[in-house]
Amino acid sequence: ATPTSIMVGTGRAAELGILFRKGEALQSLRDVEVVALDKTGTLTAGRPALTDLAPAPGFAHDEVLALVAAVESRSEHPIAEAILEAARERGLSVASPRSFETLPGFGVSADVEGRRVEVGADRYMARLGHDVGLFTAEAARLAGEGKTPLYAAVEGRIAAAIAVADPIRETTPEAIAALHRLGLKVAMITGDNRGTAEAVARRLSIDQVVPEVLPEGKVEAIRQLREGGRRLAFVGDGINDAPALAEADIGVAIGTGTDIAIESADVVLMSGDLRGVVNAIAISKATIRNIR
Ligand code: ADP
Ligand code: MG
Repeated sequence: ATPTSIMVGTGRAAELGILFRKGEALQSLRDVEVVALDKTGTLTAGRPALTDLAPAPGFAHDEVLALVAAVESRSEHPIAEAILEAARERGLSVASPRSFETLPGFGVSADVEGRRVEVGADRYMARLGHDVGLFTAEAARLAGEGKTPLYAAVEGRIAAAIAVADPIRETTPEAIAALHRLGLKVAMITGDNRGTAEAVARRLSIDQVVPEVLPEGKVEAIRQLREGGRRLAFVGDGINDAPALAEADIGVAIGTGTDIAIESADVVLMSGDLRGVVNAIAISKATIRNIR
């Protein structure tokens, strides 16, 4: 690679809002065979909204929402923001919780005015020993719509099935179609449950899904997707994407994401537009053509 062609490629990329943090990335990106995408905040906007709350018999809608919002008032997860916003919209008063605990990838719990409240994924309820049978069909229906189903338990009893939905970024479908046109496989890695992940993947024609990945499990997911020596680029935005960005052959961070993700990446997309990945690959191919 001549220094001049690298400089030209890097400059062209910069004009398109693509920062090559490492020179090698410009040369090796063209060899990528799989692009793995984080779901929340990368494929989607990362700003979910509450879409459904079905109370169990004996519970009232706003009663459960206020209890759940109280627990979530102590969480930093985007799901928490969605629930708090819904409680605010309904003018509910949200109590301050005690003994808040978070179990990453599972859910959150706290005492709210003397009642034990737990909110999270079905695997969280299973871990707590709560039976979600009442809502299994409802949760499957919600997941089939690409929504994330959650459960709330109050004093050990399931009190509601809840769903949040995170809109897919407007530019994502075109970006995936363009990656396919380049002959690449597209994969998705997510902490979300399998049903939701598969519904989103179907909608976007994503080839391969690794769902229900715990925050510390993303590196293992990358290794799984690289099987057979496939060269892989991973695109992510979050704190827990940092190890996966380092593990991938090429790590691509969303510039609006967290600093630690950006620092772990080889390439940074200044905007959240995934078409930047396509442009970065095209520039890499053009640069190497010029060199040869
Ligand atoms: P992702 O970044 O893909 O959303 P996470 O590991 O952060 O993955 O979360 C995985 C799942 O854990 C969520 O889909 C949700 O079911 C549950 N969860 C995590 N944090 C919370 C929270 N604050 N409230 C409710 N559920 C949560
Ligand atoms: Mg993310």
